[in-house]
Amino acid sequence: MTSAHHEGQWHVEVDAAACTGSGLCVGCAPNHFEIGVDHRSHAKRAVVAADDDIADAAECCPMEAIHVVSLDSGRRLYPPEDEWSPTGSVTAGRGGAHR
Ligand code: SF4
Repeated sequence: MTSAHHEGQWHVEVDAAACTGSGLCVGCAPNHFEIGVDHRSHAKRAVVAADDDIADAAECCPMEAIHVVSLDSGRRLYPPEDEWSPTGSVTAGRGGAHR
């Protein structure tokens, strides 16, 4: 189950460095993810309409390798901003509006 507010357009990306290629996300959202020749998951399309299947896939990924950003609000939806430990390139704690 998901509790997030899903609407608008999302940017979806898989962190190949974190992905183990388990395929769980493909099972959750076969229309949105596929395992590539590198044995890592890839989003079939980077920009998609908000979709519960993608949210489920992001939530079931044990590596939190699926990154989803709302293009409407600019907020990162997955991994949740208050749980994710950035490994380097992302600037955390920008603040901003809550909804
Ligand atoms: S569930 Fe996560 S770790 Fe497993 S293939 Fe998908 S993105 Fe990679």
